[in-house]
Amino acid sequence: MDLEALKAQLLAERDRLSRAVAELGAGLSHSLEDSSEESPYDQHLAETAAVTLDREIDLTLEENARAVLAQIERALERLDAGTYGTCEKCGAPIGEERLRVAPFATLCVECKRREERSL
Ligand SMILES: [Zn+2]
Repeated sequence: MDLEALKAQLLAERDRLSRAVAELGAGLSHSLEDSSEESPYDQHLAETAAVTLDREIDLTLEENARAVLAQIERALERLDAGTYGTCEKCGAPIGEERLRVAPFATLCVECKRREERSL
């Protein structure tokens, strides 16, 4: 896995989201729609954006963006600390496949499932 490329990607994503959050805060919620990157994350956000914009719940979108932003910060910290790619709960490797789909994942699939069940 190319951690330098990943870090660059995370930093770019962080910048983009920071701007989006700022704009959402200013009431300009359309900025998320023209994201051009083709990462799975963007696709997900686009879907989320479409759903929430349909309902005109910009606050939810902003909170969502903030939550992802926090995840990115966490991933960057973990990259620097050298713990990126390991599960925060059980310490097992999260797995490249999962990280490709969810680059900000902090839990392995097992722990994530357990967490989702307990919600
Ligand atoms: Zn785990």
